[in-house]
Amino acid sequence: MHALSDQQIRTSFVNASRREAAHATLPDLGSLDWDRLDYLGWRDRRAPLSSYVVGEVDGELVGVLLRAAERTGKRRKAVCGWCEDVVATEDVGLYVARRAGAPGRRGDTIGTLLCSDFLCSQNVRRTPTRTEAGNASEEERALMTELRIEGLRERSARFLREVARTR
Ligand SMILES: [Zn+2]
Repeated sequence: MHALSDQQIRTSFVNASRREAAHATLPDLGSLDWDRLDYLGWRDRRAPLSSYVVGEVDGELVGVLLRAAERTGKRRKAVCGWCEDVVATEDVGLYVARRAGAPGRRGDTIGTLLCSDFLCSQNVRRTPTRTEAGNASEEERALMTELRIEGLRERSARFLREVARTR
């Protein structure tokens, strides 16, 4: 994705109040490898149950405030709904977003299972395991990665679009 500024991120939130957007603790934007990110996601250092995801949807920047569901009991393996990685399944959690506008004011939310450290972009770029790749050639492996990246972009955009939809 394109490198984003503090201001661009804060004004992209569709389901946060002005106060929440102003108070969000942002990551160190200068240290990010934007070329290898399909969306930007991070946990608020000062409010651990608050996380944020920013991505491009139909050419527009959409930012979403997420609440992490508190973990109860034993951690279970789960597949992230965005990267769908079947290898990195140890740290996947349930995240819930209040919908934008009137639906959000009525209390409508949308949830998804998501990699807790927002490493989806890294997961889809990992080298395929032997089971996944089999005897695939170099080109076939590159294509597998391309498809995984495309899938992640589609699924994350679908979620953001759904949260932003106000009717
Ligand atoms: Zn993921």
